[in-house]
Amino acid sequence: MEKKAFVTKELIEEITKTYPTPFHIYDEKGIRENVRRLKKAFSWNKGYKEYFAVKATPNPYILKILKEEGCGVDCSSLTELMLSDIVGFKSDEIMFSSNVTPKEDFMLARKLNAYINFDDITHIDYFKEIAPFALTMCLRYNPGGDFTLNNEIMDTPKDAKYGMTKAQMKEAILKLKSYGVKHFGIHAFLASNTKDNGYYPKLAAILFNLAVELKKDCNCHISFINLSGGVGVDYKPEEPRNDIEIIGEGVRKAFEEILVPNGMNDVKIFTELGRFILAPFGHLVAKAIHEKHIYKEYIGLDACAANLMRPAMYGAYHHITVLGKENEKCDHKYDITGGLCENNDKFAIDRMLPKIDIGDYIVLHDTGAHGFSMGYNYNGKLRSAELLLKEDNTVKLIRRKEEPSDYFATLDFKEFNKN
Ligand SMILES: *Cc1c(COP(=O)(O)O)cnc(C)c1O
Repeated sequence: MEKKAFVTKELIEEITKTYPTPFHIYDEKGIRENVRRLKKAFSWNKGYKEYFAVKATPNPYILKILKEEGCGVDCSSLTELMLSDIVGFKSDEIMFSSNVTPKEDFMLARKLNAYINFDDITHIDYFKEIAPFALTMCLRYNPGGDFTLNNEIMDTPKDAKYGMTKAQMKEAILKLKSYGVKHFGIHAFLASNTKDNGYYPKLAAILFNLAVELKKDCNCHISFINLSGGVGVDYKPEEPRNDIEIIGEGVRKAFEEILVPNGMNDVKIFTELGRFILAPFGHLVAKAIHEKHIYKEYIGLDACAANLMRPAMYGAYHHITVLGKENEKCDHKYDITGGLCENNDKFAIDRMLPKIDIGDYIVLHDTGAHGFSMGYNYNGKLRSAELLLKEDNTVKLIRRKEEPSDYFATLDFKEFNKN
C-alpha cells in the first residue's frame, strides 16, 4: 500500500522552530484508532486483553495513551516494570515475559503482582527461593522444529532460546500445583514480524491444542492463553498489510473448534503486540546536511543508526519520504547515511528518491516500535527527542534530546578536574 507521512513539510518547518531535527514523532490519533480496531477484532473473547510490549516504545506518555485505551503492558526487565508502575499499571495489567531473569526483576514483578511468565522449568525453583508463588502463573512454550505456514518456513523455534518443551510444560505444571498454584497461563512467540493473517490463528491452534492436552494430563485450570507478539507491519509499500479483523476472526474459529468442545470457553485470550500497534505511527524526522559524490551518490543526515538501528542491524527496509517532494519523480539513486564511523550506518542503499537538496526534511517511516528504543550511544552520538503529535494537531515534547552531560553522567571526572 502507498505510504504517506502523517506530517507535512509545513508542520515540520513549524515544529523545528522549537525542536530541531532529528526527532521521533508519534501520531496519537493513529495509535488510538489502531488499538480500537485491535480490541474490536478480539471483542468476541470476554477476557481479551492486549499487553503492549514496552520494549517497543518505552515512553510513559505513549504507555499512558495505551492505558487509556484499555491496554496492559508486557515487561521483560526491571526498568520496564518500574516505568509501568509509574504510569499506573496494576497487577493483572502487567505481564512479565522475561528470559534469563535476574532475581531483582522477579522480585519486583511479584511485588507488583504482575502475571509472571516462566521462560524455563528451572525458573520455578529459582523463583521459589525469592518469592511466594501467585495463584496464577504462566509458562512459555517452545514446540521446537520449524514453524511453517502454507508450506513456508516462517521461523525456526528449534533454534530459539525461549520457552520449554511440551514434556517440561507438563512437569512444570505438576510442580507448580504441588506448590499451591491454581491457575495457569500459556504463552508462545513463534515468528516475528509476520505479514500473513494466518500466523495468529495457526499459533492459537497450537496453543489451544496444547491447553486441552495439559488440562487432561495435568488436571489443571488454564485461565489464559497469551499469543504474544509477532503480528507484523508492511515496512515496504509492496508488502501485504495484516488485517486485524481477519486475524481476530481466525483466532475465534480456532477457539470455537478446539477449546469450546472441551469445556474451556472461559479461557482469556491475551496478546503482547508491540510492532503492530505502534510501528506505523512513528516517524524519525531528519535533515539532509551533506551530499557526497564518489563511486555512489550519498545523502548524509543529521540522524544515524544510533537513532534507528534496524537497517544497520537487520538490513531492514524503512520507507523514506522527502517532505515537500511527495509527488516528484523518484529518479535519483541514493545511499542515505548517518555519520557513524561504521559503513553499515545506512538508512537506505540504492534507493530511488526525488532529487534531495541540502536542508530537505527526510521522514523515515514505521519507526514507532523498536525504533528509538533500540538506540545507543556509539561514537558518542546522542539520543534524539521524542515528540507526540496530539489529536488537536499540537505537538508535545515527551522526551527531551540527550545532551553531552547525559552521555557523561555515569563518569566521575573528579580525578581529571585538577588542571
Ligand atoms: C518483543 C516481544 C513482543 C513484541 O513483539 P513485536 O514484534 O513488537 O510484536 C511480545 N512479547 C515478547 C515476549 C517479546 O519479547
